Amino acid sequence: MNLHIAVLPGDGIGPEVTAGAVQVINAVAQRFDHSVTFTQADVGGASIDRYGTPLSQECLTICEKADSIILGAVGGSKWDSLPGELRPEAGLLGLRKHFELYANLRPVLLFDELRAACPLKPEFVKNGIDIMIVRELTGGMYFGKRGRIDTPDVGRSESEPESESRSGSRSESESESGSGSTKETYAFDTEAYSALEIRRIAITAFEAARLRKRRLTNVDKANVLESSRLWREIINSVKDSYPDVSLEHLYVDNASMQLIKRPSSFDVIVTSNMFGDILSDEASQIVGSIGVLPSASLGAKGKLFTFGMYEPAHGSAPDIAGKDIANPIAAILSAAMMFRYSFGLQDEASAIESAVKRALAAGFRTADIALQGENPVGTTDMTATITSFI
Ligand code: NAD
Repeated sequence: MNLHIAVLPGDGIGPEVTAGAVQVINAVAQRFDHSVTFTQADVGGASIDRYGTPLSQECLTICEKADSIILGAVGGSKWDSLPGELRPEAGLLGLRKHFELYANLRPVLLFDELRAACPLKPEFVKNGIDIMIVRELTGGMYFGKRGRIDTPDVGRSESEPESESRSGSRSESESESGSGSTKETYAFDTEAYSALEIRRIAITAFEAARLRKRRLTNVDKANVLESSRLWREIINSVKDSYPDVSLEHLYVDNASMQLIKRPSSFDVIVTSNMFGDILSDEASQIVGSIGVLPSASLGAKGKLFTFGMYEPAHGSAPDIAGKDIANPIAAILSAAMMFRYSFGLQDEASAIESAVKRALAAGFRTADIALQGENPVGTTDMTATITSFI
C-alpha cells in the first residue's frame, strides 16, 4: 500500500514521542512492504510561533491530502496568557471540528508486564483491565458558547439543586450590596448536545461493544444536567437496536469511584467530551501511566473508519520536555490504531502491539512506569527497542 501520513508533532514532548511513532511506522512499512510518505506540519504553540495562529491553512491542507494524521500534543506555559481562540489547544479542537472527528476511542489496557506499575491492590485487578472509553469529541462544553459577562444573575438556574450550585457565594455578594444588583464578573461555558451528536456516538459505542464483550456503560450526570438527560434518553433509544449488548448507566461521580473499585467489570464506556477527558486520565493511572494510553479520533464525513487522527491521550508534558525521558508507548500504540482503523491492516497493528509487549517483557521501562530500583531507559532507547522487535 502507499500510505500518506500527516505528522503534526506539536509542542513539549510531542516531537519526541511522534518521532518514536514515525520510526516504528517506517519499520512496519519495511517489514510488510508498504511505502509511506510523511508530510510534517506545525500545530498548536509551534504554529503560533510560526504563523501567529494555532492552526494554519497550510496545516489543514496537508492533513486534507493525507490518509490520516499522527499528532503529538499541544500546549505550554509560553502560550498560556493568549486569549482562548489563540491558544495551542484551539489548534487541536479546530482539527477535530474541521474533520468532524466526533468519536475518540481510548483503549485502557493493563499489560501483564505492567501489573506491578498498577497502584491498585492485586485483588482489584486480578481479572485484568481492558476498557474502551468512547469519548464524544466535537460537542459539549469544549465547543459550547462561552464568555464573560457583568451581571448578577447570569448562569444561575432557579431549579438548580442547592447542594450542586454555588448559590451560597451569590447570596454573600448580594447581601454585601443589600440590593442584589451589584455588578460581578461571571464566566460561563455551555454544555450543549444535539440528539444527532448523541445518537452517532451512541451507535459508535454500541458497535464497539459488539466487537468486544457486549457490555456498555453510559456515564453522564443526568441527575443534575438537562444535557445529560437528553444524552441518557438517546442512549436508551439506541439500545433498542442492540438487544445483544447490556447497558448500565452511571453518574460520572460514581463512575470515577467504580473505575478504581471494580475496573475489571468495565468493557466499553461511552461519555461526553469533558467527562471522557477526565475519566481517561484517571483510567490511565490504573494501568500504570498516561504514557501508555493511545487514542484514535474518528468520524470524518463519509470516512468513519478510513481517515483518522491518532494521538497519545497525554498532553505536551512541559515538565519533562526535551529531556529524553517521555514514554513513547502511547504515541507508538496510536500508530498501531492507525494501521488497524484507517488502513485495515490488522497484522501490521498487531506487530506494533506485540513489539511493545516484548520490550516490556524484556524489562525495558521509561521513568513513568519504572518501579523503585529499576533502571529506566529514555525515549530514544525505548523507541529503538520497540523498533527492534518489529
Ligand atoms: P500532561 O498529560 O501533559 O501531563 C500530566 C503529567 O503526566 C505530567 O506529570 C507529565 O510529565 C506526565 N506525562 C504525560 N505524558 C507523559 C509521557 N508520555 N511519559 C511520561 N510522563 C508523561 O497534562 P498537563 O500537565 O495537564 O498539561 C500540559 C500541557 O498539555 C497543557 O498545556 C495542556 O493544555 C496540554 N494538553 C494537551 C493535550 C493534547 O494535546 N491532546 C492533552 C492534555 C493536555
